Amino acid sequence: MKLILLGAPGAGKGTQAEVISEHLSIPTISTGNIIRAALKAQTEMGIKAKEFIDKGLLVPDDVVIGIVKERLKEDDCKNGFILDGFPRTVPQAQALDEMGVEIDKVIDIQVPDEKIVQRLSGRRVCGGCGASYHLLYKKPEKDGVCNLCGAQLVQRVDDKEETILERLKIYHEQTEPLVEFYKAKNKLTVVEGQEEVADTTALTLKALED
Ligand code: ADP
Ligand code: ZN
Repeated sequence: MKLILLGAPGAGKGTQAEVISEHLSIPTISTGNIIRAALKAQTEMGIKAKEFIDKGLLVPDDVVIGIVKERLKEDDCKNGFILDGFPRTVPQAQALDEMGVEIDKVIDIQVPDEKIVQRLSGRRVCGGCGASYHLLYKKPEKDGVCNLCGAQLVQRVDDKEETILERLKIYHEQTEPLVEFYKAKNKLTVVEGQEEVADTTALTLKALED
């Protein structure tokens, strides 16, 4: 199955991607994670992307399209994959079409803006392995420490309140048009993000069967 997870930043795409990935044994391709790894490794692409990410802006289309194109060539994508955070603009979606990728389903996780701000400002990520946590909704076993690798949890620069508002604005302007784009192709399924992660997960797994 070839899936796209759509939704505002902080809608819970990453968390749902993990669940689906395990459920269907297909890899998750998160452009955000790939870019952050490049940044950590100080590659040329990573350094260039930093100025966009930190301001809450989108990294230019040609850069992310290049990343996805390369990643999809890898062996583990043969039986399907989950795109988490790509496409984020209409040109990116068109590029996916041009690559000849036949998407089976697009799951749009809908969460109201007020909730998004609350969620992103409480988000903490592992500085070591990148695992995601939340001060209220997904607490680590030990405060400030990653369950998986024991490294310190930090707040992403782009999860500061001013930047969150900028990211939301960009989401509405540039990413939300993809809802209509995929609706017109009959690929869209909406999942209403719930208060409890487990409840959203139940809806996502159901959406896979529809
Ligand atoms: P979130 O979904 O929480 O916003 P991501 O980790 O998906 O976080 O993305 C973080 C940042 O990485 C984005 O704000 C953007 O700067 C960059 N990025 C990730 N994916 C894309 C994409 N498909 N197009 C452009 N920029 C992207
Ligand atoms: Zn970790």
